Amino acid sequence: MPDLPSHDPELYAAIQQEVERQNDGLELIASENFVSKAVLEAMGTALTNKYAEGLPGKRYYGGCQFVDVAENIARDRAKKLFDADWVNVQPHSGASANAAIYLTLMNPGDTFLGLDLAHGGHLTHGSPVNFSGLLYNATYYGVEREGPMAGRIDMDRVRDKAREVNPKMISIGASAYPRDFDYAAFRDIADEVGAFLWMDMAHPAGLIAADVLNDPLPHAHVVTTTTHKTLRGPRGGMILVGNDFENTLGKVAPKSGRVKMMSELFDSAVFPGTQGGPLMHVIAAKAVAFGEALKPEFTTYAQQIVKNAKAMAAAFVERGFDLVSGGTDNHLMLIDLRNKGVTGKDAEALLQAAEITVNKNMVPFDDQSPFVTSGIRVGTPAMTTRGFDEDAFRQVVDLMDRVLSKPGDETVLQQVRGEVHALCERFPLYDFVIA
Ligand SMILES: *Cc1c(COP(=O)(O)O)cnc(C)c1O
Repeated sequence: MPDLPSHDPELYAAIQQEVERQNDGLELIASENFVSKAVLEAMGTALTNKYAEGLPGKRYYGGCQFVDVAENIARDRAKKLFDADWVNVQPHSGASANAAIYLTLMNPGDTFLGLDLAHGGHLTHGSPVNFSGLLYNATYYGVEREGPMAGRIDMDRVRDKAREVNPKMISIGASAYPRDFDYAAFRDIADEVGAFLWMDMAHPAGLIAADVLNDPLPHAHVVTTTTHKTLRGPRGGMILVGNDFENTLGKVAPKSGRVKMMSELFDSAVFPGTQGGPLMHVIAAKAVAFGEALKPEFTTYAQQIVKNAKAMAAAFVERGFDLVSGGTDNHLMLIDLRNKGVTGKDAEALLQAAEITVNKNMVPFDDQSPFVTSGIRVGTPAMTTRGFDEDAFRQVVDLMDRVLSKPGDETVLQQVRGEVHALCERFPLYDFVIA
């Protein structure tokens, strides 16, 4: 980036400081990752200049012959990666992809059943402050409070709830659920009550691509994802259909006289339904990331994410931390800090002072407000990208424990900060410094 420093020093300084922040600290936010230099490069290209409303070969603008190539590469690689019949790579974000699902499958006022936000669900699955909760009748299933299934979804309860509310759609997907899902059981319930089944794999997509977790594609009618979490691509979204079929359950009314494939309806819901022109530079970067995810190294990476999370979880439990559901199957864990006498908000701030970045998070059956919370969410994808192994993550737990055991102790903070820097220096983020 030769021109930016002299062209706009003020803005450039902020970018440089952010890159340094990412390089020097421990990034444990479960939804974040570090993209490759190739992904960064694709995003910083002149493809951002191009309007390309429509789909490859069917655009509303001229001059799309080369961006068509880029989008087709992205689509073909995504289909291969997830063994999907159909994909739309245009959603600007996970929330945009989800908006297209509601627009296709639901009418305003229709009932759907999703995972409670307070139990790990996402805003776009029926929060009262999100369009999904404002326009549709959101009902929820949650995790168990106690017993052998504590912190986990009990499928018998989901079935009871589905029978009770008779939803038009059932959604799966979470931002803070440390366990895997039983997609076949969800589909069985959806079929029983005549509902569509939608899986939002925004968080675990990379682990699913690498076959480290159960695969929702054969079971869900439609799947959405982000591309920037465990999938390690640019910030963006995507919609996939495992088995494309016509006019599912007779519920998707054809808008013209011709019976349409499900996929055609989702395409229209993205554009013109909810978006304007696609971000072609981001789609090109998605293509690069999908290409990376198709390589055997990505499978090794995804396996390491889970190994690291399990090592971290065991180390937390050893130190008396209370993990929701007792551990993890995936890339994240949710820590209930009530037995440690510190709130999520305070823990987040204390750790930040040591340059360890986590986010405060509600735990199931929390008695604190969403601004305070009783827990933190911790994830391994970003630091695994930097090469951290189980030993490094055990050291991270030790550092976190020291900070949280002596809240506000300046000597401890200073020592930990020094060790954080030393650890980060061993695993450099990018071997270039924007200067
Ligand atoms: C992150 C996330 C989203 C939203 O993704 P954005 O790109 O931030 O809009 C949607 N659903 C789930 C389950 C998520 O975790």
